[in-house]
Amino acid sequence: MTDVFGDLVGQDEAVAMLRRAAASAAALLRAPVTSPAGGYDDLDALAEEHDGDPGPAPADPGAGMTHAWIFTGPPGSGRSVAARAFAAALECVHGTGCGTCPGCHTTLTGTHADVRLVVPEGLSIGVNEMRALVLRAASAPSGGRWQIVIIEDADRLTEAAGNALLKAIEEPPPRTVFLLCAPSTHPDDISVTIRSRCRVVPLRQPPPAAVAEVLVRRDGIAPDVAEWAAAAAQGHVGRARRLARDPEARQRRDAVLAVPRRLTGVGAAFDAASSLIEAAEAEAAASVAEIDEAERTALQTALGAGGTGRGAAGAMRGAAGQLKDLEKRQKSRATRAQRDALDRALVDLAGFYRDAIVMALRAPVAPVHTDTASLAGAGAQKWDAEGSLRRLEAVLECRAATEANVKPRIAVEAMMLALWRG
Ligand SMILES: [Zn+2]
Repeated sequence: MTDVFGDLVGQDEAVAMLRRAAASAAALLRAPVTSPAGGYDDLDALAEEHDGDPGPAPADPGAGMTHAWIFTGPPGSGRSVAARAFAAALECVHGTGCGTCPGCHTTLTGTHADVRLVVPEGLSIGVNEMRALVLRAASAPSGGRWQIVIIEDADRLTEAAGNALLKAIEEPPPRTVFLLCAPSTHPDDISVTIRSRCRVVPLRQPPPAAVAEVLVRRDGIAPDVAEWAAAAAQGHVGRARRLARDPEARQRRDAVLAVPRRLTGVGAAFDAASSLIEAAEAEAAASVAEIDEAERTALQTALGAGGTGRGAAGAMRGAAGQLKDLEKRQKSRATRAQRDALDRALVDLAGFYRDAIVMALRAPVAPVHTDTASLAGAGAQKWDAEGSLRRLEAVLECRAATEANVKPRIAVEAMMLALWRG
């Protein structure tokens, strides 16, 4: 029987830290209230004293607990899995994250009344959304334990939204806990002031063996497939599961890994750029189509089928505004989905050139893509380590450029030309 932390692959240190904090939080709920403020001042002071010190659990209740946390780590390391597991442990009626009680269960299935999850769909989280959230999070927990706000991709907060959040974190309502997820604590990802009020839970890129193990144990995937997928996904648990289960995901990956072979001239480089962009667009369109349609239908139903008269004219204007808002949100989500799809392709491509470098240097390291290892070996002979490194850098530059809002087609065309020329 595994508890709520069972899905956190290869993160023993982080899990130990979170277990200790959950135990402290439970002790805090049991402890008699000693100050009129409800004890949060003590909690805060204690938390700051022990920040960054994962030593043995102190005797004071609350010492391992604090009201704001940042989960950092590379994509796929399980930031949001860790945040949800910790939320479940805080809401667990046994205070441990048993995985079976109503508190654990409703938190993990997303139906707990005191746990709010923000998953940004567009390119950023807006200020209005954040203000509403902060307001609701200030109310007393209905279940008597904690009010919890989980913000996935906190690096996508707008500056104004970040400020609204900061205010709440600086003056935390009693019993409210903020769990943020971000790639790192770099100021580009999370503001220095927010960072300074949070405890950081660093997650590692899980080793392929640990990822393969969880695919076999939890998802019932055959060991050889699990091993291949874990290596190909480069430590990204969700991606590994998709590769193991979804034939279309495997086909997309095959097409990406065929790129180095296709680059025989300028025309071929532009063709390769076009197909990469179109594949990302198609993948993104498929992933958002269903929810877009459902949202449109729901809104149309809510607005009714129009009408006549003075009141109806006003209602129509309101309806047009709501439709426009929805379209804006959907467009933003589509753009995000396209970028994510393109980024996955670039990570696969980077893995190929990384393999070529490893082979050129005869380093005793396993290849990322076992199925294109011979192709990477041929590349290693042709380009040597330096030429392979230049190509890897071209891929990484393309990733950085799209992240910095360069038009994807322009960035990808530049990359393909660099890959062809070397
Ligand atoms: Zn439980």
